[in-house]
Amino acid sequence: MENYMKLEVPAKSCNESFVRATVGAFSVQLDISIEELSDIKTAVSEAVTNSIVHGYENMKGIVKIVCRFIEDVMEIEITDYGKGIEDIGQAMQPLFTTQPDSERSGMGFTVMETFMDELSVRSAVGEGTVVTMKKKIRG
Ligand code: ATP
Ligand code: MG
Repeated sequence: MENYMKLEVPAKSCNESFVRATVGAFSVQLDISIEELSDIKTAVSEAVTNSIVHGYENMKGIVKIVCRFIEDVMEIEITDYGKGIEDIGQAMQPLFTTQPDSERSGMGFTVMETFMDELSVRSAVGEGTVVTMKKKIRG
């Protein structure tokens, strides 16, 4: 089976849980385990939160989410048009954060990497960031 959905929301923290729940609701079309569902929702939350707090620094912007599966592989793409990431390699290091004094621990990308099978980040300073994640659903 094959299916997809696209979602666009303003970069507001109240939309974090909305996106999380919506991606979860879409994912249950697959024969997915509770644990896999929770992994996907957590990874999506981390990416959307990053767009809001880092990409747009809590100012106005839009976050796009595309979710698609082909057979048992779920692919999720989260896009923002915010400030972008200067050094992606450094940003993806565990514990690296540019906001050490607001309660950030620098573990978002590590969480995405751990809970998903594949993670790729494309970004351009001043243009924005696209995070693509894939996970094979075993059910
Ligand atoms: P935590 O996720 O643990 O709360 P964090 O958000 O700082 O802390 P990561 O999610 O791993 O940690 O992100 C690491 C760093 O990468 C961020 O501190 C930020 O500098 C940069 N970053 C991540 N996502 C984006 C984005 N969408 N736009 C701009 N910068 C980003
Ligand atoms: Mg983060």
